[in-house]
Amino acid sequence: MSNCPACGGHSTAKLFDVTADQASRSFVNPRQYPDRSKELTRHLALLWGCSRCDVRRCADCGFGFAEPFVAGGPEFYNLAAPHPSYPTMKWEYARTIEEFRVMKTAGRTVIDVGAGFGYFLDLVNNKLFRTSDIYAVDYNEQAISVLKLKGFNAYSSDLRSDSFEPMKEAFDIICMFQVFEHMDRVDEVFARLKYLLKAQGSVFIAVPNDIRTYFMERHGSLVDVPPNHIGRWTREAFGAICRRHGLQLTKCEREPFKLVSFLKQDLVESFLSRAEKPGSVGEFVRGLPRSQAQRIALALTALAFSPSRLPAWTDAARNSSTLGSALWVRIDKIS
Ligand SMILES: [Zn+2]
Repeated sequence: MSNCPACGGHSTAKLFDVTADQASRSFVNPRQYPDRSKELTRHLALLWGCSRCDVRRCADCGFGFAEPFVAGGPEFYNLAAPHPSYPTMKWEYARTIEEFRVMKTAGRTVIDVGAGFGYFLDLVNNKLFRTSDIYAVDYNEQAISVLKLKGFNAYSSDLRSDSFEPMKEAFDIICMFQVFEHMDRVDEVFARLKYLLKAQGSVFIAVPNDIRTYFMERHGSLVDVPPNHIGRWTREAFGAICRRHGLQLTKCEREPFKLVSFLKQDLVESFLSRAEKPGSVGEFVRGLPRSQAQRIALALTALAFSPSRLPAWTDAARNSSTLGSALWVRIDKIS
């Protein structure tokens, strides 16, 4: 058994496991896409080196992680989600910009890792940073061409790769929004962040709120299955990895809870969770040809389940202060 990837602790316990087939089913409906589903199952077994993956949790820092701790690569994402969509606005964007305003960003350099189509960068371009001071990293080829069209310096290679060697201490600010939870070799990531940062530079990271993830799983909503997310970061886990790399965890906040978006996500995900079960009504409806009729059938089936979500919603209302979507941190280079 390996140590905790965040703090190095030895005391970890298994939460649950998934087979390659179960994991595949949670990303791709086998009735709708039988070939892609089979291919994904085969790929996952290859990625893990066995037909099963565990999810464990560290007793010391609370970090939850896939074991084996391997990230999905381009092949996984092409099979699991061939057409990713990127949200244009997120709480963590606004929260980071709020921080930028206090920091005074004129003449500084920023790099967004996992920039997508550059929606975050659009918000700061020509206002807080000059276009020529803006850098972006993304794997997706379509994203790269959009980023370049916008005039940003765009790279498609891994942050840890040799292409970033010449950029020692090149950046005042590094952003990674909803990216770090997908990554393995997290020590290499942190070593590289420190390497790329200028003295007094800052990193802003947002990941899914672990409390919300566990809440959804406990209440029969979707299980957060690897290898999409392979790390469930906590404040303590960020604190531990920062200490080990000589960085300072300066701020850690949870997104405020929004009832409407929570109810929407819960209704959709608890429905999808049921739809993963072979032979369920949900699976049947999801497998129907895409049409107006399917959309109506989906909505009706989801609504029919809503009374069964009441206990989960009551519990959510009671614990709402901790159930926002994202966990956001600011990390500073102190030397
Ligand atoms: Zn730990």
